[in-house]
Amino acid sequence: MSKEVLLQMFPEELAAFLQGLKQPAFRGRQIFGWLHKGVVFENMSNLPQPLRAQLSDTAVSLPVSIQQRLVSQIDGTIKYLFSLQDGHCVEGVLMRYRHGITLCLSTQVGCRMGCAFCASTLDGLVRGLTAAEILGQVILVNRELGDERVNNIVLMGSGEPLDNYEEVVRFLRLVSHERGLNIGLRHISLSTCGLVDSLTRFAGEGLPVTLSVSLHAPNDAIRRQIMPIARRWSIVQLLDACRYYIERTGRRVVFEYALIESVNSSPDHARELASLLRGMQCHVNLIPLNRVKERPLQGVTPQQAARFLKTLEEMHISATLRREMGDDIAGACGQLRRQYLKEGGRSVAGQRPADRG
Ligand code: SAH
Repeated sequence: MSKEVLLQMFPEELAAFLQGLKQPAFRGRQIFGWLHKGVVFENMSNLPQPLRAQLSDTAVSLPVSIQQRLVSQIDGTIKYLFSLQDGHCVEGVLMRYRHGITLCLSTQVGCRMGCAFCASTLDGLVRGLTAAEILGQVILVNRELGDERVNNIVLMGSGEPLDNYEEVVRFLRLVSHERGLNIGLRHISLSTCGLVDSLTRFAGEGLPVTLSVSLHAPNDAIRRQIMPIARRWSIVQLLDACRYYIERTGRRVVFEYALIESVNSSPDHARELASLLRGMQCHVNLIPLNRVKERPLQGVTPQQAARFLKTLEEMHISATLRREMGDDIAGACGQLRRQYLKEGGRSVAGQRPADRG
C-alpha cells in the first residue's frame, strides 16, 4: 500500500485522517505545524511515541529531497535540483534581495506549453507536481536556511501553474495557512503564459497573489510565432481576463516581456506595447533573454534594452528591466534539469505537444 502524504492535507483533513487512527482531532493541528517546519515524525516531540512510530511506518512527511545544489559565485543565488519520490526531478532557485529571500519554484516536471525561448518545454510535460511536492521545496529550503526564512515565492520555475490548477491552488492555500508557513499571498507571484479560462476561474478563488502574465509580444502575430498558447487565445481575450483579475483582487498585473533580437524588441514594438497597455493597472517587467543553447533566439544588447524601457516610460507605462542572476549556474528555467538528465540522471520521455492526439 502506498504511504499517505500528510503534507498534502489541511489541518481538518489531518484531523479526519487521525480520527481513523483513533487519535484526537487536535493532533491534526500539532502535526500540521510540525510538518510545515520540516520536522520528521520521530522528532514530533509532543506526540506519543507509538503514534510517531506508526506514522513513520505508514506516512510520508516530506515527498521531496535535495538532489543537488549549485551556488553562484557572482551573487550567491542557489540553484536546487529537487528529486521526487518517483525519481523525477525539478528545479528551484533561491535569490537574495534587499527585501528578503525569494524562492522560485517549479509546478510541473517539464511543460507542454511549447514556448520557443524556454528550456523547460523542450522535452514536453512529464506530470504536474502535487501541492505537497511544491510546498516540500519551500520546507526543505527553509530547513537549510537555519535562522533565515523564505520570504517571497515566485511560481516561475518549470511548468505552467494554471495547467496544474487544483494542486497549485491547494499549494497556495497551504503555504499561506496561518498555522503553517503563513507566507502572505502578496508575497507570492504566479506566472502564467495565459490560459484564459483558468485565469478567469483563478480570479474568483479569493487568492490575491501577484499575477505575472508572460506576454512577450505587442501583437498576436508576433506572439503566435513564439508562444503556441497565443493560437488558442488572442491578446484581447488575455487582457480582458487580466482586467477581470485586477477588478476582483484589486491588484495590478505584471507583464513579463523577454526582449528577443529581431522579434519583439524594436522601438516600434515598445510603442505598440505601450498603446496596448494604456490605461491598465499594470507593470511591465523586461527580461533579458536567457540564452538556451538548443534555441536559435538571441537576446538584445543592454543599449537596446535601455531604449525599449525608455520608450515605454515616455509613454507612461510603469516598467523595469530585470537584472540577470545566477547566469553561471544554468539560471534559466529548465536548464539545470536538462544538464542533469544529459549527464546520466534518470531519463524522462516527456509528453511533447505533438504527441498529444
Ligand atoms: N509557465 C509560466 C511560468 C514559467 S517561466 C509562464 O509561462 O509564465 C517564468 C518566466 O520566464 C516566463 O515569463 C517565461 O516566459 C520566462 N522565460 C522562459 N524562458 C526564458 C528565457 N530563456 N529567457 C527569458 N525568460 C524566459
